[in-house]
Amino acid sequence: MSHMDEQTQQPKLHAELLNALQSWAEGSTGSELWLDEERIAHSCTDWRKRYRTHALAVVLPKTTQQLREVVKLCAHHKVAICTQGGNTGLVGGAVPTAPGAGGLRGENADRPHVLLVTRKLRDTLEVDLSNLTLSISAGYTLQEAQEEAEKHGLLFPLSLASEGTCTIGGNLASNAGGVAVLRYGNTRELCLSLEYVNAQGQICGDLRGLRKNNTGYDLRHLMIGSEGTLGLITRACLKLYPAPTAKVVVWMNVKSIHTAVALLGRIQSRLYNELSSYEWMNAHAIDLVCKHFQLKAPMDIKDSGCEHVLAEFTALGSQQALEEKVVEFFEELFASGVDDALGLLALFVAQSLSENDAFWALRENISEAQAKEGLNVKHDIACAVSALPSFHDAALAELQALDLGVRPVLFGHLGDGNLHFNVSGPAGEDSKNFLAAHQDSLNEIVHRHIMLVGGTVSAEHGIGQLKAELLQEITAPPNYQAFQAIKRALDPDNLLNPGKLILL
Ligand SMILES: Cc1cc2nc3c(=O)[nH]c(=O)nc-3n(C[C@H](O)[C@H](O)[C@H](O)COP(=O)(O)OP(=O)(O)OC[C@H]3O[C@@H](n4cnc5c(N)ncnc54)[C@H](O)[C@@H]3O)c2cc1C
Repeated sequence: MSHMDEQTQQPKLHAELLNALQSWAEGSTGSELWLDEERIAHSCTDWRKRYRTHALAVVLPKTTQQLREVVKLCAHHKVAICTQGGNTGLVGGAVPTAPGAGGLRGENADRPHVLLVTRKLRDTLEVDLSNLTLSISAGYTLQEAQEEAEKHGLLFPLSLASEGTCTIGGNLASNAGGVAVLRYGNTRELCLSLEYVNAQGQICGDLRGLRKNNTGYDLRHLMIGSEGTLGLITRACLKLYPAPTAKVVVWMNVKSIHTAVALLGRIQSRLYNELSSYEWMNAHAIDLVCKHFQLKAPMDIKDSGCEHVLAEFTALGSQQALEEKVVEFFEELFASGVDDALGLLALFVAQSLSENDAFWALRENISEAQAKEGLNVKHDIACAVSALPSFHDAALAELQALDLGVRPVLFGHLGDGNLHFNVSGPAGEDSKNFLAAHQDSLNEIVHRHIMLVGGTVSAEHGIGQLKAELLQEITAPPNYQAFQAIKRALDPDNLLNPGKLILL
């Protein structure tokens, strides 16, 4: 069929698809089909409200079998599928591609979509105590997975501020990171096997949960981080760990990011096994949280304007033993005078569970506090931990030299080399206008500096539609061609999330 023929045929094909979906919904117990514009519009708006897109329909299958049927119907009618879990993704991956972007975003990007929501996929939830695994359907939230592990005295260590809403399917599809990567790895490292439905509507993969299995290409690793472009993840078998029985949370005031990096090395040389999170925040990030959430950072007056580190130590064993080990380490550091040389200004050890939570609240509310100040330019960069200070200094100096009065709100998982290097406009200025005028130049500066130190422009949030062109620009052609070859081989009609991640 020529392109013209295809265009004139489209309304008829869409009406046929909608009829077929209605019959599907009638015969699919527990599933839902939404056709009203209000719910479609709400579902097609991303978390950051940056993309307000459209779909022909929203479908919520309850079983893998029902999901396969929808994929087959869409494939038959050549309608694209955007898969959505909790819709907490930050790069526009979980809503259809913005209309009119087709020219920029590669072939088929602005074709009509069905939005397939996986949140009703909840038929599997099973802990294997001997294998230390959790078999789980894609529609469960991350928090539900953590709670199921907890019921058995175990830990599923993935931890994100969005855990009450994001789903296991979304975590896998975006290879989510979070605050415990330092100790347990990101989602990829926590997944032993998974099941998915491919672009042809066939079930692939398995739930065997093998720790050793060298039998061919590992399709699991292709699916993890593929952001809904290669298949629809339906179930997974995830690794569990013994739940720590001791936890110590420490807040440090530090002179600079140089101090934070040097301290990390010191801490890891003695407490490598115990250190599970190491988060850094600049002064401005903490000022904003305190302003918008009525929180108070532990701080001596003389240290105002300092930067901050939140470190969490966990262990199996007694609380007292862990506390003694951590406190002894820091006492030795202070006694040796190394604290001065490094720029460690003050240390606060949380004295209760509620103080643990209060320290973490300061870190976890930064994104929301920044949002309350208006729009900002977000960056999710990473590089070797050792290269972070030079990246930070060079990028910041160039941003400040612009003389725009920008407010850098910098924080993140320093232990993984990953920072959210966000930039707000001057206080009082309309943030929408500021972004329209300066977003591109701010992005260019941050991305250039992170690439100069051998880093990455997306550490954990992924590419989606926000960074699809950027990825193509910065990836070496042989690597990008390999990405395209994989996409074409597995999804030859480009039906799954076209215009996202890899452009054809
Ligand atoms: C407050 C807040 C804090 C956050 N903190 C972090 C953080 O610390 N670390 C981090 O990594 N991320 C973080 N995120 C981003 C986001 O929560 C994660 O990327 C999360 O893994 C997305 O899960 P989801 O179910 O919401 O996926 P969605 O947003 O629905 O989808 C994300 C992508 O995965 C695809 N997808 C979803 N489900 C499936 C499936 N079953 N099969 C195939 N493809 C699928 C979608 O098409 C889309 O491309 C944060 C977000 C918010 C709002």
